[in-house]
Amino acid sequence: MKYCAKCGNEIEDGSLFCTNCGHSTNSSCLKTVLLVVTAISTLLNVIMFHISLAIIQTIFAIASTIISVLVLRKDKRTLSYICFFLGIANLLCSILWITYI
Ligand SMILES: [Zn+2]
Repeated sequence: MKYCAKCGNEIEDGSLFCTNCGHSTNSSCLKTVLLVVTAISTLLNVIMFHISLAIIQTIFAIASTIISVLVLRKDKRTLSYICFFLGIANLLCSILWITYI
């Protein structure tokens, strides 16, 4: 059994978040994964921009923005903000793309 670093609540093994306060149990690892996912989806967004798959592109953009907002709500750290701005940039790219169809 682990304990939450933020509030001291008991956390079940394998759980990603504290059930009491929502603090991430392995925040740096989780955020790195989320940042990589967001970066990849932003990259895919740029590729889609040229391949003309607007629907897939928009799904990626919305998903990465939602993930970023969720990360921001859990813990406010630099990586969360990078994820958030990558997500917004991603979304702006797809809005631009749809405008140009
Ligand atoms: Zn907690």
